[in-house]
Amino acid sequence: MPAPSATPDRPALVVAIDGPSGSGKSTVARSVARRLGLRYVDTGAMYRALTWWALSRGVDLTDSAAVAGLARELPLTLGTDPDDPHVLVDGVEVGDAIRLPEISAVVSAVATNLGVREELVRRQREVAAGGGVVVEGRDITTVVAPGADVRVLLTASEEARLARRALEVHGSDDADAVEATRDHVVRRDALDSTVATFTEAADGVAVVDSSHLTLEETVEAVLALVPMDVEAR
Ligand code: C5P
Repeated sequence: MPAPSATPDRPALVVAIDGPSGSGKSTVARSVARRLGLRYVDTGAMYRALTWWALSRGVDLTDSAAVAGLARELPLTLGTDPDDPHVLVDGVEVGDAIRLPEISAVVSAVATNLGVREELVRRQREVAAGGGVVVEGRDITTVVAPGADVRVLLTASEEARLARRALEVHGSDDADAVEATRDHVVRRDALDSTVATFTEAADGVAVVDSSHLTLEETVEAVLALVPMDVEAR
Protein backbone atom coordinates (compact mmCIF):
# COMPACT_ATOMS: atom_id res chain seq x y z
CA MET A 1 0.00 0.00 0.00
CA PRO A 2 1.48 3.41 -0.89
CA ALA A 3 2.38 5.53 2.12
CA PRO A 4 -0.25 8.24 2.34
CA SER A 5 0.51 11.81 3.23
CA ALA A 6 -1.90 14.70 3.59
CA THR A 7 -4.39 14.78 0.70
CA PRO A 8 -7.92 16.10 0.48
CA ASP A 9 -9.09 12.54 1.32
CA ARG A 10 -6.67 11.73 4.06
CA PRO A 11 -5.40 14.00 6.80
CA ALA A 12 -1.76 13.85 7.80
CA LEU A 13 -2.55 11.72 10.82
CA VAL A 14 0.27 11.22 13.31
CA VAL A 15 0.03 8.45 15.90
CA ALA A 16 2.69 8.56 18.64
CA ILE A 17 3.26 5.44 20.76
CA ASP A 18 5.72 5.17 23.66
CA GLY A 19 6.41 2.35 26.05
CA PRO A 20 9.08 0.40 27.91
CA SER A 21 10.91 -2.66 26.66
CA GLY A 22 8.58 -5.62 26.17
CA SER A 23 5.39 -3.54 26.14
CA GLY A 24 4.73 -4.85 22.63
CA LYS A 25 4.82 -1.40 21.08
CA SER A 26 6.62 -2.35 17.86
CA THR A 27 4.15 -5.09 16.99
CA VAL A 28 1.19 -2.94 17.99
CA ALA A 29 2.50 0.13 16.14
CA ARG A 30 3.05 -1.88 12.96
CA SER A 31 -0.45 -3.35 13.12
CA VAL A 32 -2.00 0.06 13.73
CA ALA A 33 -0.06 1.49 10.76
CA ARG A 34 -1.22 -1.38 8.56
CA ARG A 35 -4.86 -0.99 9.63
CA LEU A 36 -4.85 2.76 9.00
CA GLY A 37 -2.71 2.64 5.83
CA LEU A 38 0.00 4.74 7.44
CA ARG A 39 3.78 4.62 7.38
CA TYR A 40 5.60 3.20 10.38
CA VAL A 41 8.74 4.51 12.09
CA ASP A 42 10.58 2.47 14.72
CA THR A 43 12.79 5.04 16.46
CA GLY A 44 14.44 2.35 18.60
CA ALA A 45 15.85 0.94 15.35
CA MET A 46 17.63 4.27 14.82
CA TYR A 47 19.39 4.11 18.20
CA ARG A 48 20.18 0.45 17.55
CA ALA A 49 21.53 1.16 14.05
CA LEU A 50 23.81 3.88 15.39
CA THR A 51 25.05 1.51 18.11
CA TRP A 52 25.75 -1.16 15.49
CA TRP A 53 27.62 1.34 13.31
CA ALA A 54 29.71 2.69 16.19
CA LEU A 55 30.68 -0.85 17.25
CA SER A 56 31.46 -1.95 13.71
CA ARG A 57 33.77 1.06 13.34
CA GLY A 58 35.46 0.35 16.65
CA VAL A 59 34.28 3.61 18.28
CA ASP A 60 34.31 3.61 22.08
CA LEU A 61 30.68 4.07 23.15
CA THR A 62 31.77 6.08 26.20
CA ASP A 63 33.39 8.70 23.94
CA SER A 64 30.31 10.94 23.78
CA ALA A 65 31.73 13.45 21.32
CA ALA A 66 32.80 10.74 18.88
CA VAL A 67 29.44 8.92 19.08
CA ALA A 68 27.47 12.17 18.69
CA GLY A 69 29.63 12.95 15.65
CA LEU A 70 28.80 9.54 14.18
CA ALA A 71 25.09 10.21 14.75
CA ARG A 72 25.31 13.29 12.56
CA GLU A 73 26.99 11.27 9.79
CA LEU A 74 24.87 8.11 10.14
CA PRO A 75 23.99 7.00 6.58
CA LEU A 76 20.68 5.45 7.60
CA THR A 77 17.74 4.40 5.45
CA LEU A 78 14.74 3.34 7.48
CA GLY A 79 11.97 1.60 5.57
CA THR A 80 8.55 2.92 6.61
CA ASP A 81 6.37 0.18 5.12
CA PRO A 82 4.90 -1.68 8.14
CA ASP A 83 5.18 -4.92 6.16
CA ASP A 84 8.86 -4.36 5.36
CA PRO A 85 10.51 -2.13 7.94
CA HIS A 86 14.06 -2.63 6.62
CA VAL A 87 17.04 -0.85 8.15
CA LEU A 88 20.05 -0.01 5.98
CA VAL A 89 23.29 1.51 7.24
CA ASP A 90 25.56 2.60 4.45
CA GLY A 91 23.60 0.28 2.15
CA VAL A 92 23.99 -2.77 4.46
CA GLU A 93 20.81 -4.44 5.78
CA VAL A 94 21.18 -4.53 9.55
CA GLY A 95 17.58 -5.32 10.53
CA ASP A 96 18.53 -8.60 12.24
CA ALA A 97 21.96 -7.59 13.54
CA ILE A 98 20.60 -4.63 15.50
CA ARG A 99 18.21 -6.87 17.47
CA LEU A 100 20.99 -9.13 18.80
CA PRO A 101 21.47 -9.19 22.59
CA GLU A 102 24.96 -7.63 22.14
CA ILE A 103 23.31 -4.49 20.80
CA SER A 104 20.42 -4.48 23.32
CA ALA A 105 22.99 -4.69 26.12
CA VAL A 106 24.75 -1.45 25.14
CA VAL A 107 22.18 0.62 23.21
CA SER A 108 21.27 2.67 26.29
CA ALA A 109 24.84 3.99 26.46
CA VAL A 110 24.24 5.51 23.03
CA ALA A 111 20.66 6.61 23.72
CA THR A 112 21.66 8.50 26.88
CA ASN A 113 24.18 10.57 24.89
CA LEU A 114 22.45 13.96 24.57
CA GLY A 115 24.29 14.86 21.35
CA VAL A 116 22.97 11.65 19.82
CA ARG A 117 19.42 12.41 20.95
CA GLU A 118 19.56 15.88 19.49
CA GLU A 119 20.43 14.51 16.05
CA LEU A 120 18.10 11.50 16.04
CA VAL A 121 15.17 13.51 17.43
CA ARG A 122 15.78 16.06 14.66
CA ARG A 123 15.52 13.30 12.03
CA GLN A 124 12.44 11.80 13.69
CA ARG A 125 10.68 15.17 13.80
CA GLU A 126 11.29 15.58 10.08
CA VAL A 127 9.54 12.27 9.37
CA ALA A 128 6.67 13.05 11.76
CA ALA A 129 6.20 16.47 10.16
CA GLY A 130 5.32 14.72 6.88
CA GLY A 131 2.33 13.13 8.65
CA GLY A 132 0.57 9.91 7.72
CA VAL A 133 2.70 7.96 10.14
CA VAL A 134 2.79 5.89 13.31
CA VAL A 135 5.96 6.67 15.27
CA GLU A 136 6.98 4.54 18.23
CA GLY A 137 9.68 4.84 20.87
CA ARG A 138 10.29 6.28 24.33
CA ASP A 139 9.92 10.04 23.88
CA ILE A 140 7.57 10.36 20.91
CA THR A 141 4.50 11.56 22.83
CA THR A 142 6.60 14.05 24.83
CA VAL A 143 9.52 15.28 22.70
CA VAL A 144 9.40 14.13 19.08
CA ALA A 145 5.69 14.64 18.31
CA PRO A 146 3.90 16.12 21.34
CA GLY A 147 1.31 17.58 18.95
CA ALA A 148 0.42 14.16 17.46
CA ASP A 149 -3.29 13.48 16.83
CA VAL A 150 -3.12 10.29 18.89
CA ARG A 151 -0.69 9.93 21.81
CA VAL A 152 -0.48 6.60 23.59
CA LEU A 153 1.63 5.17 26.37
CA LEU A 154 1.59 1.41 26.01
CA THR A 155 2.30 -0.26 29.33
CA ALA A 156 2.26 -3.80 30.69
CA SER A 157 3.11 -5.28 34.06
CA GLU A 158 6.77 -6.16 34.57
CA GLU A 159 5.74 -9.82 34.66
CA ALA A 160 4.01 -9.62 31.26
CA ARG A 161 6.88 -7.65 29.71
CA LEU A 162 9.53 -10.08 30.95
CA ALA A 163 7.54 -13.08 29.71
CA ARG A 164 7.21 -11.49 26.24
CA ARG A 165 10.90 -10.62 25.99
CA ALA A 166 11.90 -14.09 27.25
CA LEU A 167 9.76 -15.67 24.54
CA GLU A 168 11.30 -13.42 21.91
CA VAL A 169 14.91 -13.88 22.97
CA HIS A 170 14.96 -17.42 24.43
CA GLY A 171 11.92 -18.97 22.75
CA SER A 172 10.39 -19.78 26.14
CA ASP A 173 8.80 -17.96 29.07
CA ASP A 174 9.61 -20.54 31.72
CA ALA A 175 11.13 -19.37 35.02
CA ASP A 176 14.76 -19.71 33.85
CA ALA A 177 14.17 -17.78 30.66
CA VAL A 178 12.36 -15.01 32.55
CA GLU A 179 15.22 -14.75 35.06
CA ALA A 180 17.77 -14.60 32.25
CA THR A 181 15.80 -11.72 30.73
CA ARG A 182 15.07 -9.78 33.92
CA ASP A 183 18.42 -8.16 34.47
CA HIS A 184 18.89 -6.68 31.03
CA VAL A 185 15.29 -5.51 30.63
CA VAL A 186 15.11 -3.86 34.05
CA ARG A 187 18.57 -2.31 33.70
CA ARG A 188 17.86 -1.00 30.18
CA ASP A 189 14.55 0.58 31.25
CA ALA A 190 16.21 2.19 34.27
CA LEU A 191 18.97 3.71 32.13
CA ASP A 192 16.57 4.76 29.37
CA SER A 193 14.28 6.49 31.85
CA THR A 194 17.08 8.88 32.77
CA VAL A 195 16.58 10.62 29.39
CA ALA A 196 12.94 9.93 28.48
CA THR A 197 9.69 9.76 30.43
CA PHE A 198 7.87 6.60 29.47
CA THR A 199 6.85 5.11 32.78
CA GLU A 200 4.09 7.63 33.36
CA ALA A 201 1.82 9.26 30.83
CA ALA A 202 2.33 12.98 30.21
CA ASP A 203 -0.73 15.27 30.12
CA GLY A 204 -3.07 14.33 27.30
CA VAL A 205 -1.43 10.93 26.70
CA ALA A 206 -3.77 7.92 26.87
CA VAL A 207 -2.58 4.80 28.68
CA VAL A 208 -3.24 1.38 27.19
CA ASP A 209 -2.28 -1.44 29.55
CA SER A 210 -1.72 -4.59 27.51
CA SER A 211 -0.94 -6.92 30.45
CA HIS A 212 -4.17 -8.84 30.00
CA LEU A 213 -4.95 -8.03 26.38
CA THR A 214 -4.21 -10.03 23.24
CA LEU A 215 -2.36 -8.30 20.43
CA GLU A 216 -5.62 -7.80 18.55
CA GLU A 217 -7.34 -6.31 21.60
CA THR A 218 -4.41 -3.96 22.16
CA VAL A 219 -4.49 -2.81 18.54
CA GLU A 220 -8.26 -2.23 18.83
CA ALA A 221 -7.72 -0.20 22.03
CA VAL A 222 -5.27 2.07 20.18
CA LEU A 223 -7.51 2.35 17.11
CA ALA A 224 -10.39 3.38 19.39
CA LEU A 225 -8.36 6.50 20.27
CA VAL A 226 -8.20 7.67 16.64
CA PRO A 227 -10.68 10.51 16.14
CA MET A 228 -13.72 9.22 14.21
CA ASP A 229 -13.59 11.86 11.50
CA VAL A 230 -9.97 11.00 10.79
CA GLU A 231 -10.42 7.25 10.68
CA ALA A 232 -13.53 7.43 8.52
CA ARG A 233 -11.97 9.56 5.79
O1 C5P B 1 12.38 0.00 21.32
P1 C5P B 1 13.73 -0.65 21.32
O2 C5P B 1 13.92 -1.65 22.42
O3 C5P B 1 14.14 -1.19 20.00
O4 C5P B 1 14.72 0.56 21.62
C1 C5P B 1 16.10 0.34 21.74
C2 C5P B 1 16.72 1.44 22.60
O5 C5P B 1 16.69 2.68 21.90
C3 C5P B 1 16.03 1.71 23.93
O6 C5P B 1 16.47 0.82 24.93
C4 C5P B 1 16.46 3.13 24.20
O7 C5P B 1 17.77 3.13 24.75
C5 C5P B 1 16.55 3.74 22.82
N1 C5P B 1 15.39 4.55 22.45
C6 C5P B 1 15.32 5.84 22.90
N2 C5P B 1 14.34 6.68 22.46
C7 C5P B 1 13.43 6.24 21.59
C8 C5P B 1 13.46 4.91 21.14
C9 C5P B 1 14.45 4.08 21.61
O8 C5P B 1 16.15 6.25 23.71
N3 C5P B 1 12.49 7.09 21.14
